[in-house]
Amino acid sequence: AAAIRIDDLVFRWRPDAAPAVKLAKLTVDAGKSLFLHGPSGAGKSTLLNLLGGVLLPERGRIEVLGQVLGDLPAARRDAFRADHLGFVFQQFNLLPWLSALDNVLLPCRFSRRRAQRAGEPDAAARRLLAALDLDAAAHGAPAGELSVGQQQRVAAARALIGRPEIVIADEPTSALDAARQDAFIDLLLGEAKAAGSTVVFVSHDLRLAAHFDEKLALTVGADA
Ligand code: ADP
Ligand code: ADP
Repeated sequence: AAAIRIDDLVFRWRPDAAPAVKLAKLTVDAGKSLFLHGPSGAGKSTLLNLLGGVLLPERGRIEVLGQVLGDLPAARRDAFRADHLGFVFQQFNLLPWLSALDNVLLPCRFSRRRAQRAGEPDAAARRLLAALDLDAAAHGAPAGELSVGQQQRVAAARALIGRPEIVIADEPTSALDAARQDAFIDLLLGEAKAAGSTVVFVSHDLRLAAHFDEKLALTVGADA
């Protein structure tokens, strides 16, 4: 089954601007990973926000897990996102005063479904952090005191907890050297695959494409 299905999508930030995203068709099957690339300004982040239902298209359909996002009222879209989508942001967006573990547990507080699917959330969070190679000694440390590489692992564990059907990662490796990027992506994809999660991974770095099942290139200034 398709986890994501896009038809005839157009999004503009202003009515008189060129489309920031224009995409005739995209299908991502459940459990697959998609690498979304293109230069700065190509609309990658905008497309991720459309997939999350944070933005709505001017034209076209975005179906996520069989649900047309534009058909949901705003509050239901927020709940849908919290229940079914996990996010890894470029700047990680951890709460620096909370421990690594408590950061990972946050989605379980925002979503009953994520909490239920995590089983025993605390144990699930520890297992994920360990699987993503975060030393147990760091689990209780305030997230703001961890290194960049450690924070990235915490952010990834937070996206994965409670087995969301879709994991969205926006340039989460840009702060790392090449070897660490590859290792991190393999861990992230391995855990996502084990959970059955579909992954959408954004980067401008085409070198990373080989890790992923599907690739999609976006270009700057899509024609109107
Ligand atoms: P990428 O993630 O590929 O760098 P973006 O989605 O950030 O691309 O940007 C695509 C286009 O949309 C760019 O022209 C950018 O200037 C514009 N854009 C992005 N965010 C906003 C915003 N909040 N308001 C207006 N224009 C925006
Ligand atoms: P938005 O783009 O509307 O701000 P969020 O980024 O808040 O959406 O939500 C994206 C995901 O992050 C959701 O799946 C949610 O479970 C989780 N989340 C929401 N708020 C927080 C938060 N303060 N800290 C960590 N995770 C959060």
